[in-house]
Amino acid sequence: MKTSRIPGFYNMTVDERRNLLNEMHTFTEEEATNLFSTVPLSTDTADKMIENVIGTFPLPLGLGLNFLINGKEYVVPMAVEEPSVVASASYIAKIVRNAGGFTTEATERIMIGQIQVVGSPDIDAAKAALEKEKESLIEDANAAYPSLVARGGGAEDLEVRVLNGESNSKYGQMLVVHLYVNTCDAMGANIINTMVESLAPTVEVLTKGKVYLRILSNYADKCLARSRCVIPPSLLETGEYTGEEVRDGIVHAFEFAASDPYRAVTHNKGIMNGIDPVVIATGNDWRAVEAGAHAYAARDGQYGSMTTWSTDVSGNLVGELELPMSVGSVGGSTQVHSMSKIAYSMLDIESAQELAQVIVTVGLAQNLGALKALVTDGIQKGHMALHSRSVAIAAGASGEMIDIIAEQLIKEKQIRVGKAKELVEQNIK
Ligand code: NDP
Repeated sequence: MKTSRIPGFYNMTVDERRNLLNEMHTFTEEEATNLFSTVPLSTDTADKMIENVIGTFPLPLGLGLNFLINGKEYVVPMAVEEPSVVASASYIAKIVRNAGGFTTEATERIMIGQIQVVGSPDIDAAKAALEKEKESLIEDANAAYPSLVARGGGAEDLEVRVLNGESNSKYGQMLVVHLYVNTCDAMGANIINTMVESLAPTVEVLTKGKVYLRILSNYADKCLARSRCVIPPSLLETGEYTGEEVRDGIVHAFEFAASDPYRAVTHNKGIMNGIDPVVIATGNDWRAVEAGAHAYAARDGQYGSMTTWSTDVSGNLVGELELPMSVGSVGGSTQVHSMSKIAYSMLDIESAQELAQVIVTVGLAQNLGALKALVTDGIQKGHMALHSRSVAIAAGASGEMIDIIAEQLIKEKQIRVGKAKELVEQNIK
């Protein structure tokens, strides 16, 4: 997409939005058909993706707009059921683009495979034997997945850890082999599981122990993505609140989350409000990303804020988010679901590293959206107004009645299903 600024998109009908996108972007014939399709995931495809299929479970797919990241425009597909998430991300992205946009970076994509070894008669000797054979173990792992090596990736390093060193556990010490694998553009779970399973027999011989678990670690702390924004206070002014007040409120809110797990969990949930929808829309494994992100938020021993918010010497608000981002732009279900194919087409990313940077940026924007609302008007004003239509539907409204009931709920400041049911009954009579 040439631009992610699409003024008035919010006020268009769904078909108007689809038509506009189709004019703005070169979709393939298949993508264009799927964009307008009312059944984007066929039951046949679904039946091949998981087991015991009885149907599909669609989610709304919206577009996060206004994102400018490292000088590039991104229209960001977001699949999510919660109102206000897409609006808030787009609103903050607009503020940040006026401040020059987000800057991002990512580490190499190294994922970790674990092999658990128990019952070695001599733990130190077993560890030494594995370390001595490190290079040949790496070679064996790569022999199990030559196509990855041909792409420039593959197993790069191996480490041996001893667990339960000091503890009185029933079974005593165990060894854990860590295999570090550059998975290129794949998330890498299946690739790594294949590699570590292939090493298990050799590891048993070398350690004289028994191998139990051979699996990827979702704690992807060597596959990180970072995003940063710097915003002058003038862009944060909100109603009667000065930009400086909003900025300081956001820094106070960060300090609250940084020092209190009760707040941090909610603060971080708000970040995942932005991250999960993009992970889902791109066909990635959101449980994997969630697990890694929360573990990373506790890496210092106490669960804390995923983001940091501070002021720089010029008085600007500075926001940063760094997270493990074990997503792929190939493999898994990324190219299976027809809507995720459309998502990639619109995102126009060239690598999993680039996708990871976009995702972490949406998380940072989402966090700022929530904090800005919380330190000014409170979250309910915007959120409940957008939630009112879901409340009307839950109360049984349909067709034109949905908007009529929703408006009435907002007017009466009673955005509750009970009230909506009363209004539905009155409208039916
Ligand atoms: P795949 O098994 O689909 O492997 C990725 C495939 O992508 C490779 O086989 C490779 O094929 C192909 N490929 C094409 N281009 C590239 C490229 N540029 N870089 C890398 N690979 C490329 O998926 P993953 O191994 O990524 O595993 C992800 C899936 O595993 C997800 O669905 C996830 O839910 C699931 N999973 C997750 C677990 C967890 O999180 N703990 C555990 C088990 C599974 P080739 O080299 O043959 O051409």
